[in-house]
Amino acid sequence: MPAATQKKPASKAAMKFNSSKSTSKSQPKSSSRKAKYVYFFGKGKVDGDGTMKSLLGGKGANLAQMTKIGLPVPPGFTITTEVCTEYYKIGKKLPNEVMPQVTEAIARLEKELGKKFGDRKNPLLVAVRSGARDSMPGMMDTILNLGLNDDAVEALKAASNDGRFAYDCYRRFVQMYGDVVMGVQKKHENDDEPFESVMHQLKTELGKHEDTELSEDDLRELVSRFKKLIKDHTGKAFPNEAIDQLKGAVGAVFSSWMNERAILYRRKYKIPTEWGTAVNVQSMVFGNMGDDCATGVAFTRDPATGENVFYGEYLVNAQGEDVVAGVRTPLVVQEMAKDAIIGPAYKELEKVRKTLEKNFGDVQDFEFTIEKKKLFMLQTRNGKRTALAYVKIAHDMVKEKLMTPEHAIKSGDPEALNQLLQPIFDTKAYEAAKSEGRLMSTGLAAGPGAATGVAVFTADKAEEFANAGKRVVLCRVETSPEDLRGMIASAGILTSRGGVSSHAALVARQMGKVCVAGAGEIEINYKTHSLSCNGITIKEGETISINGTTGEVIAGEIATADSELKQVLVGKTLKASDSQVFKYFDFIMKLSDKYRTLGLRTNADEPEQVDAAVAFGAEGIGLCRTEHMFFKGTRIDDVRRMILAKSESERKEALARVIEYQKDDFEGLFRALNGKPACVRLLDPPLHEFLPHEHSQMADLAQKMEVPAEEIHARVAALHEANPMLGHRGCRLGISFPEISEMQVRAIFLAAAKVQKSGVKVKPEIMVPLVGFYQELDHQIEIVHRVANEVIKETGQKIKYMVGTMIEIPRGALTADEIATNAEFFSFGTNDLTQTTLGMSRDDSGTFLPKYVDLGIIKANPFASIDVTGVGSLVKTAVEKGRSTRPDIKLGICGEHGGDPSSIAFCHEVGLNYVSCSPYRIPVARLAAAQAALRMPKKK
Ligand code: ADP
Ligand code: MG
Ligand code: MG
Repeated sequence: MPAATQKKPASKAAMKFNSSKSTSKSQPKSSSRKAKYVYFFGKGKVDGDGTMKSLLGGKGANLAQMTKIGLPVPPGFTITTEVCTEYYKIGKKLPNEVMPQVTEAIARLEKELGKKFGDRKNPLLVAVRSGARDSMPGMMDTILNLGLNDDAVEALKAASNDGRFAYDCYRRFVQMYGDVVMGVQKKHENDDEPFESVMHQLKTELGKHEDTELSEDDLRELVSRFKKLIKDHTGKAFPNEAIDQLKGAVGAVFSSWMNERAILYRRKYKIPTEWGTAVNVQSMVFGNMGDDCATGVAFTRDPATGENVFYGEYLVNAQGEDVVAGVRTPLVVQEMAKDAIIGPAYKELEKVRKTLEKNFGDVQDFEFTIEKKKLFMLQTRNGKRTALAYVKIAHDMVKEKLMTPEHAIKSGDPEALNQLLQPIFDTKAYEAAKSEGRLMSTGLAAGPGAATGVAVFTADKAEEFANAGKRVVLCRVETSPEDLRGMIASAGILTSRGGVSSHAALVARQMGKVCVAGAGEIEINYKTHSLSCNGITIKEGETISINGTTGEVIAGEIATADSELKQVLVGKTLKASDSQVFKYFDFIMKLSDKYRTLGLRTNADEPEQVDAAVAFGAEGIGLCRTEHMFFKGTRIDDVRRMILAKSESERKEALARVIEYQKDDFEGLFRALNGKPACVRLLDPPLHEFLPHEHSQMADLAQKMEVPAEEIHARVAALHEANPMLGHRGCRLGISFPEISEMQVRAIFLAAAKVQKSGVKVKPEIMVPLVGFYQELDHQIEIVHRVANEVIKETGQKIKYMVGTMIEIPRGALTADEIATNAEFFSFGTNDLTQTTLGMSRDDSGTFLPKYVDLGIIKANPFASIDVTGVGSLVKTAVEKGRSTRPDIKLGICGEHGGDPSSIAFCHEVGLNYVSCSPYRIPVARLAAAQAALRMPKKK
């Protein structure tokens, strides 16, 4: 047997394996050798390690790693993700080679533990646990106590000297197995769980309330009722043989990779389906054998705030998911120190906390069980955290030399930085609400931020209201994976039950949702669709506010205020030194700058936007859409006069007025930029976009222009186009009406000259839109140079400038070598380039694109994330051709994609010089650019 395949050297640098996307150096190489499907971890032998996440899944790799560094892990083995892939390839079956390798691993386990699998006298019991590459909390199902049957349970009773315990394990096993493997489940989210119903029925018959009141005999009865439930539901008997149970469970874990919840989760987090999950089979330890036992979960630091405090909770005498499920309210982990019986284990936990951070180089989220006072580690992974915790932890741990700066950058989620820009409650309005007696209760602060919205009580309603454009707060007693859709649709989540590691808190942290969990005083009534507390009742559709930073729940609406970052950077109403958030954020941003090689620009057309963007780190304007300025105040009237003019002289008259506005606009931009480059695009949209379309508006305009209304009607009608996106727009306008280009160029240079004269540097870049033929560009370039020279002569200011083009239609990309002859730069207008390459109108795609994503025809919305294979290939072509003519051509992107992390990675890869995005996406782009540089190093 292939037990002796590639021995990995123990990894010395902890950081080496702590990467969520660790590349696999562990794929079996030779095809002549039989594939190794099973990796053992135990005292005598550890096949895997922390670097092998793609093969062993996150859980399996880290179980191996923990075993390796000497932490107390119950021994077991991992069936690889490759088996999952095979499983689906051959029609949901295990490949033949798998079970023999499993049997071999079981034998090793039996030897190590001195127990026998399937034995009636001394049974080895195992947990069967899923484990994908990236953790997918709550997505896959775990089966505990596998190996029990009517005989083995008696052996367990004898061994533990505790019949109640043995039968409690048994009933849990039958329940989990019946649910997960045999599919006995509730049909609707508000239905009762079938097994719970049976248990409830029995308790009622016995006049008992708590699970703990059930005696051994009661549980024996419960097991037989559970088995009957399974038989009735499925027509199949509960399997008696351990090996059959194991086969069923392993298959079920692999199957759960394709369940609806898992698919939804993967879609949201862009986890590829091909990755598959591993299956971990691990010997059981028991946290429910008495008061010298416990089970718990903990984070090495607070994952909501990032504070360096031990953060966790545990339950005495409990098994498995009791903590997360919120059935009983757990104790905070620090309490354990005071526990007379298991107190000593707390000291060990504290040690483990340090060991984990040191070894894994990041905050760890781990699970443990204490069996008869002995601590066992069941899992560890990098802790999911809020954006606030991310920046604080990265800052602190890098300074403490526990985390490498590279990991600090790589492990961040750029998109999540938006959380730090989210509004917070307005202090005055908040205090007012409290003094009005609107404070209902205080729960656990599980996801920082402020959320005000209408209360809803089901995931369906949350989606319904959100689709209707309302902000909603989802209120549930507790949440489960079925609520995921509703949680995604909500601005905030409120639960009345569950602790800091409950499902709601976990998911909220990860999604960056505002969340208050476990607000126990609040009574949530699903029947009446209302919640009440402190004499206040809120019905579905009424407004509620939750403060995820303090845990407070407040009736009604509360006004919000700018985030601290905005107050520091944009409003300048808060001093940088007074904001901790800013300090940590700034640390990450500056660290990003050390690694990134891409430049950062912004799409902006107002000085205030430029100010904000520069404060966030923009190094110039990547796209100024001149026409946005046309709509300010009464300017539009002159613009309309310019468009509707019947003669050149009339047009020139209107232009003479428009140029004055434009000059001021550009002056403002140049001043705000203070020497940074400004890429200004000449007029782009079809002219009819500026014209009035309603009757009254046209009449109004006719009056202002002193022409008959019919004339306006006729002109508007004449400008109507069947397909404006592909019509008279872009440089086609400048070619038809050179005087418009002339006016704009003159405005730009007059403004530049004035600003330069006042001692502020200027760097104008004139960009010609929608070029498909180099002759189009040449036509416009002639105007630019001519007018620029005129202004330079008139003003005596020598101005350095560039002229280039937007590459946004396929012909432009395909003939980029010709275009580059006279273009000094390209900026990829990937919005139009995507529309024209796909032949798909962005504005109309809403009706069919969602289905495309569902069916997997496309992986993501191509207007949000660049279509690398299609559009990307045109970009590559244009980059190569452009550089072949003009090696130093400057290359950027200004489409919406410039702020999308995966598109930014693409831009880095093809070697663009900069990305440009809207001002508030700059932090996202800044981190994403650094990540791209770390993943794919290039020379600066
Ligand atoms: P998830 O991926 O959903 O966290 P796990 O595989 O971690 O699922 O299992 C869920 C719970 O089952 C764990 O939190 C732990 O309490 C319990 N569990 C898992 N493996 C064992 C084991 N070997 N012994 C005892 N309990 C276990
Ligand atoms: Mg777990
Ligand atoms: Mg365009």
